Amino acid sequence: MQDKLNLMIPGPTPVPENVLSCMSKHPIGHRSKDFQEIVQKTTEQLKWLHQTTSDVLTITGSGTAAMEAGIINTLSKGDQVICGDNGKFGERWVKVSKAYGLDVKVIKAEWGQPLDPNQFRMMLERDIEKKIKAVILTHSETSTGVINDLKAINNEVKNHGEAITIADCVTSLGACNIPMDEWGIDVIASGSQKGYMIPPGLSFVAMSKRAWEANTVSNLPKFYLDLKQYLNTVNKNSNPFTPAINLYFALEASLTMMQKEGLNNIFTRHARHQKATQEGIKSMGLNLFAKEEFGSPAITAVQPENVDAENIRQSIKNNFDILLAGGQDHLKGKIFRIGHLGFVNDRDIVSVISALESTLDKLGKLNAPIGQGIAKTISVLNNE
Ligand SMILES: *Cc1c(COP(=O)(O)O)cnc(C)c1O
Repeated sequence: MQDKLNLMIPGPTPVPENVLSCMSKHPIGHRSKDFQEIVQKTTEQLKWLHQTTSDVLTITGSGTAAMEAGIINTLSKGDQVICGDNGKFGERWVKVSKAYGLDVKVIKAEWGQPLDPNQFRMMLERDIEKKIKAVILTHSETSTGVINDLKAINNEVKNHGEAITIADCVTSLGACNIPMDEWGIDVIASGSQKGYMIPPGLSFVAMSKRAWEANTVSNLPKFYLDLKQYLNTVNKNSNPFTPAINLYFALEASLTMMQKEGLNNIFTRHARHQKATQEGIKSMGLNLFAKEEFGSPAITAVQPENVDAENIRQSIKNNFDILLAGGQDHLKGKIFRIGHLGFVNDRDIVSVISALESTLDKLGKLNAPIGQGIAKTISVLNNE
């Protein structure tokens, strides 16, 4: 049987039927009054999601466009920046920063470990001349399932006084609490195919007042991603270029769904699914790749022993039509990753844990009595 695919990768994530049906109609003119109303509404909804009164701008492009926009709109050639790098997406920040001729200092952690806020503090404290203009980091490192302590690192940036924080919140926004204004984060980048529950194609940049101040002196080259153009047009409920109009229909529908559920309920749901997944995994004798205390609310990485992670992944795909993510780079075959981000319910968690247990049993690699994993998952779901 075909067409019963369950996406449990960390993006693209599943899209609710209601959102799909809102998209499947003719596009409308992007200078029309009807479209302006959608821009006005979604802009307000995006501010709600980011817990900010600052501007949140929508770009047609994938999440990386928003990240790149955050950098090139606030910095200048040769500026010193610190990039946090503990996985594939941290590496990407380093690459983008170098591509624009920034003077990049890298703070690393092993893949599977979180960034250490103390290392940021030490580097920032040593910078007496205040040369460091930005600290750039990934909040939820999707490649390893690790959440970095954005709040603590951002506090170190605040103590420095000069630098701004540019954060990739692509797989944390809409999964856990990120009060942009309360914490004083300057730039937040995100993408539609993750917590937003809509297909890929839109990305979002939230910019604080300080980020706009930095923008006035920023000289890195920009045209399509020049956020001033987006700010000028969003104030007229419009867009500088032809946006992905049908994705705006989807965005309006999904953000309305999220508002109905409420931010706290959304965060609680993700935390509960994260715990039910982690506990199920451990109870069937599998190892978590990242320790629970710094596990991402969006994704759980699993490191099986004595069996190729790709075999497990393939078998689950073939027999259950559940798509999991593999390991990237040196982790290929070593880990697989279960996405529990966005439009995910208890049924999804129960089925992925059962499917995993069944698959390990079939492969002769189950190191615990059959049913022990799912029993634990059910117990977490019933009691949390
Ligand atoms: C998905 C993702 C991105 C964005 O990638 P795109 O393919 O450009 O949408 C950025 N950072 C993280 C942590 C991600 O998970």
